[in-house]
Amino acid sequence: MSVTMDLLGESVTQREEAIAARNQIRKLLERIHTSRIDANVSVKLSQLGVKIDPELALDNMRLILSTAREVDNRVRIDMEDSPLVDVTLDIYRTLRDEDGFDNVGVVIQSYLYRSEADVKQLVGEGAWVRLVKGAYLEPPDVAFPDKADVDANFVKLMQMMLSEEARANGVYLAVATHDERMIRATLDYAQAQGVPANAYEFQFLYGVRRDLQEELVREGYQVRIYVPYGSAWYPYFMRRLAERPANLWFFVSNLVRG
Ligand SMILES: Cc1cc2nc3c(=O)[nH]c(=O)nc-3n(C[C@H](O)[C@H](O)[C@H](O)COP(=O)(O)OP(=O)(O)OC[C@H]3O[C@@H](n4cnc5c(N)ncnc54)[C@H](O)[C@@H]3O)c2cc1C
Repeated sequence: MSVTMDLLGESVTQREEAIAARNQIRKLLERIHTSRIDANVSVKLSQLGVKIDPELALDNMRLILSTAREVDNRVRIDMEDSPLVDVTLDIYRTLRDEDGFDNVGVVIQSYLYRSEADVKQLVGEGAWVRLVKGAYLEPPDVAFPDKADVDANFVKLMQMMLSEEARANGVYLAVATHDERMIRATLDYAQAQGVPANAYEFQFLYGVRRDLQEELVREGYQVRIYVPYGSAWYPYFMRRLAERPANLWFFVSNLVRG
């Protein structure tokens, strides 16, 4: 399995914190290179200062992507809560289209009503996209309140991004979910459309559904594990608890074992 590393931390309020995070992420990229592990990096713009000043986050991303380019690696911008979606996509497009970075990707959340329109545009642009359901508590005027609608939209967006047109444009999709039904729907669609297994990948959070991760690898599919690390773990932990209270048991049992 391959990996995406995530230095924990978000919503910084001081420029120095954003710059420190940027420097650590650049070191991480260098370390991945010297260690020769099969890993890329995921970042959050709120960790890089977007709430202080979008220009600060953009400049930090430019430096991170320059380092990534030097070591032949890629960086994915995680998607955060809905007030940050526009600025995240704007920064992504500035980096790609104006600065010419082809080693940057984004994330689309199937719980947002707007995501179908965003995906249409990203398909046209041949983007590198991770599809998720979405992890933040969103109001019903921006996100589907019913899980069945979030799931149905996930399948629809997955199909749009695995379509022949999308692949011909250069779209490379990461299907990031622990939901077997979503994974099955992806495999079914890929098989029906003749999409080769190296044209997309599955992604899982570290430690979740290891059985399924291994099964997919055994069947010849690409799997990448999202590995968060660092000391600023609290908001990440609370989101995992909110989406699945049983994660508390998972956490406690690993803590005791560790
Ligand atoms: C690699 C990766 C990157 C992500 N990046 C982002 C991002 O940038 N922005 C964002 O908003 N969200 C992100 N997320 C989180 C995502 O939006 C969901 O909140 C999270 O994945 C839970 O939804 P689910 O798709 O697993 O399905 P759910 O509907 O939460 O769960 C469906 C089923 O999956 C199984 N399952 C779920 N969790 C567990 C568990 N802990 N243990 C065992 N089984 C479980 C259960 O069978 C459950 O019924 C990311 C998720 C992954 C995997």
